[in-house]
Amino acid sequence: MSTLQDRLDRLTVPGELYEVVDEAEKKIRCYACGHRCLLKDGARGICKVRYNDGGTLRVPHGYVGTLQLDPIEKKPFNHVDPGISVLSYGMLGCDFHCGYCQNWEISQHGRDEAAGREPLIVTPAELVATARSRGAQALASTYNEPLITSEWAVSVFKVAKQAGMRTVYISNGNGTPEVMAYLRPWLDAYKIDLKTMQDKQYRRLGGVLANVLDTIKMVKESGLWTEVVTLVVPGFNDSNEELWDAARYIG
Ligand code: SF4
Repeated sequence: MSTLQDRLDRLTVPGELYEVVDEAEKKIRCYACGHRCLLKDGARGICKVRYNDGGTLRVPHGYVGTLQLDPIEKKPFNHVDPGISVLSYGMLGCDFHCGYCQNWEISQHGRDEAAGREPLIVTPAELVATARSRGAQALASTYNEPLITSEWAVSVFKVAKQAGMRTVYISNGNGTPEVMAYLRPWLDAYKIDLKTMQDKQYRRLGGVLANVLDTIKMVKESGLWTEVVTLVVPGFNDSNEELWDAARYIG
């Protein structure tokens, strides 16, 4: 009997966000997120869903792990077409491992044995048709980290754009210049979670503060509509000093 991982691995295509580092050794480097995983043949990235198959990076494609109609304010985007509905989808996996993640059942697939969900197989055209039939004016890649499935997002967003819809990312901000350039033509708005202003706290979640701050700058400078959100977690990031640091950085 096949495992969930087997079924997910079949729902993959060759990726576009990677480079060959050593052809003879079939070593490659993924640059879909700031981890820039160096992967030998057969290895999986930190996100658990992108992997090296004989020198080719296989990446998730053709499914969603969760699908829901949301008001755009729930994403939360407070200043992008207030009042519109958004068809939100997530896939499986994440490049972070935040202990308080609300979406851990999909984000922590491959890391937490209790996590994981059967994929719903869909095409980009079916997703956009569903969005239109339910009155959504935008499509969002959200719930798990969208950067790690950016090839699928671009496939979906190309069709969404043809249908006149907005496209948005809800992300942890662990980006790279390469993935931002790849996404920019197909994306309207980008929301980043600035989870803490302390590097040592970011490292507990699996990230690096400087990389998130750089991504906020990159997104803003690219001309994308940018919103930054800090979820206040008592005892983790709620000191006055830290919240002022975040406000000063954004200001
Ligand atoms: S997307 Fe996954 S494989 Fe690629 S760099 Fe990030 S964690 Fe590594």
